[in-house]
Order: sequence, then structure tokens, then C-alpha cells
Amino acid sequence: MSPKNTKHLFDQYPRLYRGRFESIQINLMRFGFECADGWFDILDRLSKKLEEIARKEDRNEDKWPITIQVKEKFGTLRYSFGYASEDMNQAKLAACKETWNTCEDCGQDGKKCYKGMWERTQCKSCAEKNDYFWSDEEADEEEAPMVKTDITSCS
Ligand SMILES: [Zn+2]
Repeated sequence: MSPKNTKHLFDQYPRLYRGRFESIQINLMRFGFECADGWFDILDRLSKKLEEIARKEDRNEDKWPITIQVKEKFGTLRYSFGYASEDMNQAKLAACKETWNTCEDCGQDGKKCYKGMWERTQCKSCAEKNDYFWSDEEADEEEAPMVKTDITSCS
């Protein structure tokens, strides 16, 4: 993610992302958000939502949710954080699901595209630009259950 968008998220949600000052043995936010800028809006909304829930749950400073790692894997968002509640996990899953069909590069509608062993969620024009294979067919039915199982952890 660009330095500008990274700074925005760190500045807007300093408590959620306080782990960026910790050692990489316990928190990986020092590396920033390991995905491209097309998912910035999704991350911005998720961060806001997690803090809203924390306020509603009347969390105190030492039990405030803390993000541990944010990255792309197999074309979807993985978001790990500590002090999660059920509501927070639901918000996280909804955000991860959004990334299934949001281009990681530009934020337009997209889908899983392939380049050799690599998978990324791309829109048609970014896929062409990045030399990823865009299939005009609908998503493979057989792939769906696997993705669903995979996403339940989402971290
Ligand atoms: Zn795109």
C-alpha cells in the first residue's frame, strides 16, 4: 500500500494500529498493509467499524483491539487482530468477503485472476495490464466451497 494511504490509516486509527511500534516478533504492522491500494477503502471502513464496536463494548485502553497483520493471500484479504469480539470478527469477515470481488489495484469490481501459480483479485483492465489471466466465464462452481472454508479464518 502506498505511504500516503498507509499514513492515513495509521493516523486515523492510532490505537488499532499501535502494534506498528512493537517488535516484529509479536506484531507485523511495522511492515504496513501488505496489499495494494484498491483495498484501501475496505480497510478504512473496517478499521472505523472495529473502533466503533470497541467503543460500544466500552473497551478500556489495554483491551482495545490491536491489529497484528494485514496482507493479501490467494487473492483475498487476511486480517489478524487481537482482543476480537464476535461482532468484530463478523465485521472482519464481511470486509474479507468484499475483497473477493474488488480489484486489489484500483478498487473496481474484479475477480480472481491467475498468472502461473499466482492468484490476485483484479478487474479486467488491471488483469490485462499486469498480464493476469481473466476468464470471461463465471467462477468455477467447484472452487466456491473451498474459498468459503478458507475464508472462515480469514487470517
Ligand atoms: Zn483494477
